[in-house]
Amino acid sequence: SHLPESIRKRVQDHPCYSEEAHHHFARMHVAVAPACNIQCNYCNRKYDCANESRPGVVSELLTPEQAVKKTLAVAANIPQMSVLGIAGPGDPLANPKRTFDTFRALSEEAPDIKLCVSTNGLNLPDHVDELIRHNIDHVTITINCVDPEVGAKIYPWIFWNNRRIRGVKAARILIRQQQKGLEMLVERGVLVKVNSVMIPGVNDDHLKEVSRVIKEKGAFLHNVMPLIAAPEHGTYYGVMGQRGPTAAELKALQDDCSDMNLMRHCRQCRADAVGMLGEDRGHEFTLEKIETMS
Ligand code: SF4
Ligand code: SF4
Repeated sequence: SHLPESIRKRVQDHPCYSEEAHHHFARMHVAVAPACNIQCNYCNRKYDCANESRPGVVSELLTPEQAVKKTLAVAANIPQMSVLGIAGPGDPLANPKRTFDTFRALSEEAPDIKLCVSTNGLNLPDHVDELIRHNIDHVTITINCVDPEVGAKIYPWIFWNNRRIRGVKAARILIRQQQKGLEMLVERGVLVKVNSVMIPGVNDDHLKEVSRVIKEKGAFLHNVMPLIAAPEHGTYYGVMGQRGPTAAELKALQDDCSDMNLMRHCRQCRADAVGMLGEDRGHEFTLEKIETMS
């Protein structure tokens, strides 16, 4: 790996970032964040946000209290549990009360568990201080472009200052907020991973530039994920018949810009995944079941 030693140390017991650790440590996501503040053309609101999770699945939405209860039940039953992430089904920072109530309770009741969050970045600069206060270990930002013209083809609108803003103007604000959030986190020593969704004909050529910019600003990892454009996940409604990348196209781009030595084993987990990487024991910890535990 080409990671600096200081960062490697911090991710070596992290199941998502260390090939080694993913056999020994477990992670879970809780879905406490229903709302979103932007529209991605590839999103179908019936399913989980693509920031961090596998498209086309629906996670069990929990209240903060339920999420804390579930996390403690999982930690008691899966001793390898080391990482808790909030990843959907919408954007965690578009639901700050629910997200931070969950983090606050967990940092008090389960201080050994590392906390992480994924976001589209629009509200990130406003919440950096609070993320630091809750000792968030790492943040994932989904950045699909650094050029507003490209962004306008990906994001039909954002919700900003109580208004809906469209087109290039919206994309410009989103990009500015994402980059500012990235810089603020890096400045404060928080690990930042960037996810990008590869959309053929829209941002595929552009993602190399994205990779260059975000690495220069200090993101420690760039993870390129394929657009999954199956009809049952809804269409990419900016473009009729938008396809996802072929395996060969994805690999070629990943070879150019992903830190694949680290992310090759990312499974695009569900927003309510539980367990070791590659397994999902969520069904053992449904709300109904945790009521009968403890
Ligand atoms: Fe959907 Fe996530 Fe995009 Fe929001 S950020 S529109 S939830 S994919
Ligand atoms: Fe780790 Fe990827 Fe799953 Fe997130 S989606 S928990 S980074 S494997």
